[in-house]
This record gives sequence, structure tokens and C-alpha cells, in this order.
Amino acid sequence: MMRKMKKLPFLVLTLILVLAVTVFAEERVDRYDQIFDASQDAGRLTARFLQLTTRSDDKSGDSTILTSPDGKVMIVDAGNPSTFIDIQNALDSLGITRIDYLVASHPHVDHVGSFAQLIYGYDIGAVYTTEVEYPTSHYRNYMEALEATETPHVILAEGDTFMFGDHVLVEVFHPAPGIEYYEGYPEGSTQFINNLSLLMKLTYGDSSFLFTGDLYTNSEREIAATYGERLRSGVLKVPHHGAGTSSSRPFRDAVGAEVAVMMSDAIEELRIYRNYANAGTDTYITSIDGSVLVSTVGDGSYTVISQFDRVGDFLN
Ligand SMILES: [Zn+2]
Repeated sequence: MMRKMKKLPFLVLTLILVLAVTVFAEERVDRYDQIFDASQDAGRLTARFLQLTTRSDDKSGDSTILTSPDGKVMIVDAGNPSTFIDIQNALDSLGITRIDYLVASHPHVDHVGSFAQLIYGYDIGAVYTTEVEYPTSHYRNYMEALEATETPHVILAEGDTFMFGDHVLVEVFHPAPGIEYYEGYPEGSTQFINNLSLLMKLTYGDSSFLFTGDLYTNSEREIAATYGERLRSGVLKVPHHGAGTSSSRPFRDAVGAEVAVMMSDAIEELRIYRNYANAGTDTYITSIDGSVLVSTVGDGSYTVISQFDRVGDFLN
């Protein structure tokens, strides 16, 4: 009798634990397969903002896979080298073996870390970068990969335009041509390089996406003063992973995004998230929402699918 009495609380506890795990598992909806299903992509401009998982000391970084209405593929940035497996899995699920446009916003490891692996592993149309040179091992690795595979290299600067497939116009607003390096570069160059990030707008009919790399507020303010309304975009890749170094008011107001996505390992700064959300922008963070798909037929409206549902509204 004594033994039974002792066992009962343990059994009850076990039962509660099993129930809790079951309920949690049922609530955790995972739309990975839906997000990485390419069957609806024809006729649409689609951006898939990847949730990357770092397996090193570096930040996981940014990577966005874009498909044009006529089936061309663009990748903007490609996380640190340890995130390559996430990018590869996404490309496999989408059935992508050719990357027509491989674009680097700036040469930091959390943006170009997986470039060498992509260049060696895939059929690449051309690599697009800014002029910024950055003598580090991962930068040299991918420059070597470019040479070894004879992949065309296109340098972009303010004022350039090109077509992504037959229907999507790409405009470059930043950086200006002719980089002036300071004495002692690249010592202490983090801010210098981030401020020279590629600012690129993709327009399909009445829909548009703005890619910002890791721009800081001083560049944002200059660009907003120069281009104003021309920056207006439905969808914004939030600069610098949603950190407080970026997303100044003049820039946010000029863009006026309906949808904003922050690719980060954590909430960088709640104030920045709230600035977007309080302005009515539908704002996502990959570390919470998982990968995020934003897609449009070019009519100025967007379909958004996040991998996970939010548990409560703790961010607001
Ligand atoms: Zn970064």
C-alpha cells in the first residue's frame, strides 16, 4: 500500500508532462514545407527571407531567395559559412540548381560567408557586389571561387539599373561609385563597410521590395534626403538585422513599408521593432517567426506566410 501511495504522484506528474508536451507540439504549427513549395511561384515576384541557424561564433546573418515571375532566381546575401546547410536545404526544397543573380550587399562574413560554397556548388549566372574590397579570408575565398569557376562579376553602384528576368526592374541607390578608403583600412572598418551597403529596390508593377544590407542611420539619412519618395516600397528588408544602429525615422518614413522583415538570431532592439509595428507595418523577425515568404502578382498587395505563429503578443 505504501509503495502505491508513493508511485501515484510520480504517475500523475508524468501524465501532466506528457500532456503538456503533446499540447505544445500540436500548437507549434510549422509551415516550412508551404514556404518552400515553388508550385505557386509562376507569375509572381516572391521573396523568401530565410531563418538561418548559426553553428559558429559569427551571427547567422541574412539570406533572401527571390524568384521572378518568369522563373529567374536571385539570392541576396548568404549567411555565415555554417549556415550554408540552411540555404542548401531551402534551395533543394524549391528545386533550384541555378542562381541567375547572386548579390552581396557588403562583404561581411554574415552576408557573404556561404558565397564560396554557393559558387562551387551551383550554376551561377553572375555575382553582383559593390566596389568595396575587404581583405579577409572569407572574402578572398569567394573571390578565388569566382576566378576558379570563371563566374562573371558585376560591380554595382548608385544609378545602376538592371532587369531581374523580363518583368522586374532593379535600381541601385547606394553606394556612390568610387570608394575612398581611409588610411589604415580595414582596421576598425565595421561601420564604414556597413554604411557602404548596397541599397537596391526591386519593382514589379505596383509592388516593390527594398534591400538594405546593414546600412546605419547616417547613410540612411543621406539617402532619404537624396531620394525621398523614390525609396517608397511595399516590402523592406530591415537594415542591420533590426539593430538600433539603423532604421532612422526619415528612412522609415521615406520607405513607408507595409511589410518589414528582420533577419536576426534574437530581437536586436525592441524599440526598433515597435517603431515599425506602431506605424502599421506588418513586422517579422526570423528568430521568432521562422522563415518568411512575401509574394506579389505586382498589384501592390502582398501575400505573407511566416513559418511559425506567434505565441501571444509579447512584442507589442
Ligand atoms: Zn550583418
